[in-house]
Amino acid sequence: MNRTKIVAGNWKMNKTFDEGLELAQQITNKAKNASCKVVMASPYIHLHALRQVIGKSDTVFLAAQNCHHETKGAYTGEISVEMLKSIGVDYVLVGHSERRAYNQEDHKMLAKKVNLVLQAGLKVIFCCGEPLTVRQDNAHIQHVKRQLRESLFHLYESEFDRVVIAYEPVWAIGTGETASPEQAQEMHKAIRRMVENSYSEACAQATTLLYGGSCKPSNAKELFSQPDVDGGLIGGASLKADDFMAIINSI
Ligand code: PEP
Repeated sequence: MNRTKIVAGNWKMNKTFDEGLELAQQITNKAKNASCKVVMASPYIHLHALRQVIGKSDTVFLAAQNCHHETKGAYTGEISVEMLKSIGVDYVLVGHSERRAYNQEDHKMLAKKVNLVLQAGLKVIFCCGEPLTVRQDNAHIQHVKRQLRESLFHLYESEFDRVVIAYEPVWAIGTGETASPEQAQEMHKAIRRMVENSYSEACAQATTLLYGGSCKPSNAKELFSQPDVDGGLIGGASLKADDFMAIINSI
């Protein structure tokens, strides 16, 4: 199956404005002929300038790391989906485990964000994944199933071509601990089955599933070679152009 392959970099709260611009320039130049889509999820302050750096590209795309779950109004310090759309953002990350943990983002709030992103015509990268205790209890698949059911599977099948799912086991994010290729494949296969059961086989086969969690140049190739792993969501290793490019070139 010729699914869209994506390598997305999540810069998190890193890079001053100038540093971010320089990184984006390097990646945009080096990734011109990449064999997958390349996404940069920068902090909000960089997005407008990065849009100019990337220009019109079929390969390199721009993502926000978050959006607010209401459309507009008295939410000091927040950013709406319409604002992101107005500066040409392509994707929005929704449900990253750090936001679930530190900003108390629950299933219902995430479903609202997903709806707003899709209603605006943008694409969503929906993050899911289990904490360590859940994996130790062997309940990881049930955990992810609930995350998808509560925040994503209310969508129409026709909307699903703008949904990317990123499986990110919480115990592997920023810890140096990576899921083994077998563990990643087990979950990705299970997620594809969940999409099939909620929609159709065609929808499941067409949906891009990313792995995230301490993915780096040394392990990317093995992870990406799994049949249901269609790319990666990369944190720490997306902050250096050479490391990020090595991961992109592993696909
Ligand atoms: C992430 O935050 O999405 C992530 C995968 O981080 P890291 O690659 O640093 O584990």
